[in-house]
Amino acid sequence: MGAEDGLLRTALKPGPRAKALWRGALDMIFPPQAIDGGPALAGGLSAEAWSRIHFLDGPVCDGCSLPFDYDRGAGVRCAACMARPRAFDAARAACLYDETSREPILKLKHADRLDLAPVLARWISRAARELLEEADAITPVPLHPMRLLRRRHNQAAEIARPLSKLSGVAFLPDALVRRRATESQGGKSGSSRRRNVAGAFHVPASRVRQVEGRRILLVDDVMTTGATLEGCARALKQAGAGRVDVAVVARVKEAAGLTI
Ligand SMILES: [Zn+2]
Repeated sequence: MGAEDGLLRTALKPGPRAKALWRGALDMIFPPQAIDGGPALAGGLSAEAWSRIHFLDGPVCDGCSLPFDYDRGAGVRCAACMARPRAFDAARAACLYDETSREPILKLKHADRLDLAPVLARWISRAARELLEEADAITPVPLHPMRLLRRRHNQAAEIARPLSKLSGVAFLPDALVRRRATESQGGKSGSSRRRNVAGAFHVPASRVRQVEGRRILLVDDVMTTGATLEGCARALKQAGAGRVDVAVVARVKEAAGLTI
């Protein structure tokens, strides 16, 4: 009884060292440091958070990646895309933008978790596989230089770079320039978002030759109304791009009234 019993119990219970060893073994397999504080799993998301991400694996609108309830066939577009064709040709999103997917996206954007970029790029590479197969170059949505200075990195470029490596499609980081700082798009309706970004982007003369006649895949983290991506697509087409497609990590399901 007493000391001996206590020893036995200690031997049977995993001590802090055993836990640390186990965690070490897991960290070799999965990236360390789960962003929600839970045990580390792929992409720094806990298994629980991972299971709640709404990946857009099923049928979607070819024009805006809105999920469809049933398969309507390849290349079919939703009512909104039929009523008002977008400035870009097709779009794919890896998942829906919601409470769960918002976390890794905002961590990359504001908290310098650059290690998340390759994971998000992998998500996109799956969702936009067909678009990547046809693309000649990958271009990120640019930040205004002042904002880039403040934030130190452009999250769209951070995602586009590993996407280029994964897919073997050329990376064109500076094909687009944001020539004036636009007001935040948050809380704006679709039409005022479009007005806000009208003429905000252009292709510098030194990059026109790399864009002319080519199929460009535009990359960003989130698509809300698509106004920013349309502003970029218009600039690329004005510079002679043959086709402009869009690939984002997440799309907002209902754009109305959502603030990012
Ligand atoms: Zn659509």
